[in-house]
Amino acid sequence: MNLHQNFIAGEWTRGSDAIHNINPSDTNDVVGIYARATAGDTRTAIAAAKAAFPAWSRSGILERHAILKKTGDEIMARKEELGSLLAREEGKTLPEAIGETVRAAQIFDFFAGEVLRLAGETLPSTRPNIGIEIVREPIGVIGIITPWNFPIAIPAWKIAPALCYGNTVVFKPAELVPGCSWAIADILHRAGLPKGVFNLVMGKGSVVGQAMLDSADLAGITFTGSTGTGRQVAASSLEHNRKFQLEMGGKNPMVVLDDADLTVAVDACANSSFFSTGQRCTASSRLIVTEGIHEKFVAALTEKLKTLTVDHAMKAGTHIGPVVDERQLKTDTDYIEIGKSEGAKLAFGGELISRDTPGFYLQPTLFTEATNQMRISREEIFGPVAAIIRVKDYDEALATANDTPFGLSSGIATTSLKHATHFKRNAEAGMVMVNLPTAGVDFHVPFGGRKGSSYGPREQGTYAAEFFTTVKTAYTLG
Ligand code: NDP
Repeated sequence: MNLHQNFIAGEWTRGSDAIHNINPSDTNDVVGIYARATAGDTRTAIAAAKAAFPAWSRSGILERHAILKKTGDEIMARKEELGSLLAREEGKTLPEAIGETVRAAQIFDFFAGEVLRLAGETLPSTRPNIGIEIVREPIGVIGIITPWNFPIAIPAWKIAPALCYGNTVVFKPAELVPGCSWAIADILHRAGLPKGVFNLVMGKGSVVGQAMLDSADLAGITFTGSTGTGRQVAASSLEHNRKFQLEMGGKNPMVVLDDADLTVAVDACANSSFFSTGQRCTASSRLIVTEGIHEKFVAALTEKLKTLTVDHAMKAGTHIGPVVDERQLKTDTDYIEIGKSEGAKLAFGGELISRDTPGFYLQPTLFTEATNQMRISREEIFGPVAAIIRVKDYDEALATANDTPFGLSSGIATTSLKHATHFKRNAEAGMVMVNLPTAGVDFHVPFGGRKGSSYGPREQGTYAAEFFTTVKTAYTLG
């Protein structure tokens, strides 16, 4: 099997050692062998990106447009192949993986368009005979650190705007899923990026990621991952006086009111909690249900769960793929035990399942009779595990939804305009969904949260410019 190498200073390089990328649907299936960079390789990549910055930051917009457009076009043209790679390395179902790949292509396409729309402002001064220009400039070398759960979309939504606005990049993907990131590097390279503008350093967070955090030459770090690592990014960034942007965990609520359309509510909750194996930062693991619909809702959701097939991600008819790896599976099953010991009632699932291939298969797991104080309601599990919390009325539902250290996405199922409107205004979250799952967002609008979920400017859409540029105000006499 070929070694997939790191891409540093325009060259493919071997690194210190290599890892096997294992398919969580079938642990006998090695997806590929991927090089591991050292801390020294990471420093070389940062130096290369720094050297490439002056020329790239002044490159013509047509050059940047062409490279981003070509990249998006190639990802789209190869959506089946890259989607298969994604499903194999991460374990989400093939349709979900192809959907994510299409989204990555659309993101490159969107920022290819944004390059052509770069603009500033001109204003009169408060003083006579002076003009003012306000322009956005790139910030320098951007460090990109990504998690395993969206192996192509999250890299895309950080890399595309970084390059669009004229920054250079050092990119470290999650070690569990290097395949799609390697494919992006290969595509960007062939699309014609000058040497050093984009560097891929695969490897361990504690080595490669840490070398990025320790560098004084990164002007910014954009990070998605756990709260713990996010705090380390923040602390190191303050020390080096650099910009940082964090997207971290969630404990997203989905409120179901008495007046909800039951089918809409059940579909939204099943999707939010269990699709992509519950491994989405926007997944909902707290289903907050008012007492008038509670019994009907529990019965209907349990019936729905019986119809969902957990199996190999590549198999037609699979609704839920495996958990990503053994470590995450252990976390999920530990939380299932915690839920039971806290007094929540296991209404569905909770068991490991065997399939034709050796993989990390877990039943979708639903607790009822949970309270919002239980650990399963307060801590992010990041697996196919959800808990129903029974509440009296809308006011208690809203208060419970907001009673969390997180604030990424918040959903409500209701046919009441009054409650939907009130919820949109009062949910303490970056994104609010009405009669829709808490997960599933568009690529052209801002993405991000509040409280412990996020820090810094929003990602995606035109709002991405806030992080990837810095503003200059120029005054001219005459
Ligand atoms: P981690 O924080 O463990 O890892 C995220 C990235 O950080 C990985 O690339 C990891 O490398 C790297 N990393 C680990 N240690 C360090 C370090 N010391 N210095 C620099 N980088 C480091 O999170 P997971 O990948 O396990 O992702 C799961 C978490 O991410 C969940 O909590 C989830 O909620 C959150 N998440 C949030 C999203 C959001 O948008 N809000 C979206 C997706 C996930 P390595 O892989 O080698 O460990």
